[in-house]
Amino acid sequence: MGNENMGKGMEMQRHDLIVIGSGPSGRRAAVQAAKLGRDVLVIENRLRVGGVSVHTGTIPSKTLRETVLNLSGWRERGFYGLAYRVKKDIEGKDLGARLRKTLDYEIDVLEHQFARNGVATIAGQARFLDPHRIQITPPDGEPVVHEGDKIVIAVGTRPHRPSHIPFDDCCIVDSDSLVAEPRVPRSLAVIGAGVIGLEYATIFSALDVPVTIIEPRANFLEFIDREIIEEFVHDLRKRGVNFRLGCKLDHVEIDAQGWPVAVLSDRRRIRTEMLLYAAGRVGATADLGLEACGLGVDDRGRLAVDPVTFQTDVPHIYAAGDVIGFPSLASTSMEQGRIAACHAFGAPPAPAPAFFPYGIYAVPEISTVGLTEEQVRQQGTPYEVGIARFRETSRGHIMGLQSGMMKMIFALGDRRLLGVHIVGEGATELIHIGQAVINLGGTLDYFVQNTFNYPTLAEAYKIAALDAWNRISLVPQMEDA
Ligand SMILES: Cc1cc2nc3c(=O)[nH]c(=O)nc-3n(C[C@H](O)[C@H](O)[C@H](O)COP(=O)(O)OP(=O)(O)OC[C@H]3O[C@@H](n4cnc5c(N)ncnc54)[C@H](O)[C@@H]3O)c2cc1C
Repeated sequence: MGNENMGKGMEMQRHDLIVIGSGPSGRRAAVQAAKLGRDVLVIENRLRVGGVSVHTGTIPSKTLRETVLNLSGWRERGFYGLAYRVKKDIEGKDLGARLRKTLDYEIDVLEHQFARNGVATIAGQARFLDPHRIQITPPDGEPVVHEGDKIVIAVGTRPHRPSHIPFDDCCIVDSDSLVAEPRVPRSLAVIGAGVIGLEYATIFSALDVPVTIIEPRANFLEFIDREIIEEFVHDLRKRGVNFRLGCKLDHVEIDAQGWPVAVLSDRRRIRTEMLLYAAGRVGATADLGLEACGLGVDDRGRLAVDPVTFQTDVPHIYAAGDVIGFPSLASTSMEQGRIAACHAFGAPPAPAPAFFPYGIYAVPEISTVGLTEEQVRQQGTPYEVGIARFRETSRGHIMGLQSGMMKMIFALGDRRLLGVHIVGEGATELIHIGQAVINLGGTLDYFVQNTFNYPTLAEAYKIAALDAWNRISLVPQMEDA
């Protein structure tokens, strides 16, 4: 393809940077380049900016979670009993109302951010014509062609929808259709115990929906410390969540009432009103015309990049965000986009810190930073562990918390903090204290010597550190340990 794709007499516009996709990585790349004084165009194939993160992923799922926890009175049940509700009979429309308001507000903020920074945006499907020229097909109108000196591919992913699953986006859904018109089913089967599957499984379980989680591997979330997963699973089983681990989904049948029946590899049949298929996502690269710029993808549609600069094999084309694979988080995607733009325009950022936090917004939350106990053992580093239970903190008593724990891992030699692992209320916020101490090379002494606000859940850091201190027996006795 060549110039023939341009409208007759149309002048091709040139930009310092073209970003394809307006999710977290695209947005950060665009704004960073604009702040470096560059002319930037963002192409987005949805009508409004924000990407998967805002329209179907991070923000919708977190908003649903917050709505469910509020309306169900989840956080108050420790005091008022399991039957306590803020609203009786919670329906789909209760979930949808808050969702729409939150998303509208979020998109408004993003549009303002683009405008404030002078970033041009255009709605349309982007496709490479050659390594510098991109054809944009708007939803209604003629294709146009823009040329970029540098290009960032930030197209993200879409849910994997295998052809043998009869998706109808009502009873058999993926994570996109689940939030398009949220509803509360009478029962739910979740295929895939990954982050997305577990988040939705536990959100619906908090609404007292019976949930079955089906996962082909015997273990799940293998990058998380095993003790935290044991605590998490214990919590979920206590609430009646069923796990079918080590069992593959063979196929899905529809029964006489129109309910899906998940037929497993061991021939067990699980009939529920809704089935959520959450077993993987694929890079949204199929229609990008990557062959026109000499780039290929792996079997999941993902691009390979230099892990430091985020350049693809074609040096002026960068890729960032979920389209390059792990860790596939909005948080890390933003940083990748920023680093790519800095590199592209000769403003290399300081090297990224060693550890970033991982947040899983299940109910209860899990968050982790640094090494797991399994990794520390594998490295052969002598270590000790300290544990705090949230019910040991005064804040936990006030909040009526009955579960939640923090685990800290310290090196024995220099008492360096190696890892922090939390499951329970506020885990995704609390983790940042541990993140700062780890990345600044701090030790057990930081937690023992510093004063923490009281009463807070952050006090768990002190309790866990004192627990480790006692085990290490550096001092014979601590007064309050
Ligand atoms: C249910 C769910 C929950 C999640 N929860 C969290 C969480 O709690 N915390 C967290 O950190 N992360 C979370 N994530 C992950 C997070 O959403 C992603 O990591 C993040 O959105 C990736 O950003 P991105 O920059 O790759 O772009 P994306 O957000 O994937 O957006 C890419 C955009 O590019 C557009 N596009 C694709 N192809 C083209 C094309 N050819 N032309 C023009 N535009 C195109 C797409 O339509 C899309 O709008 C969650 C994801 C899901 C699905």
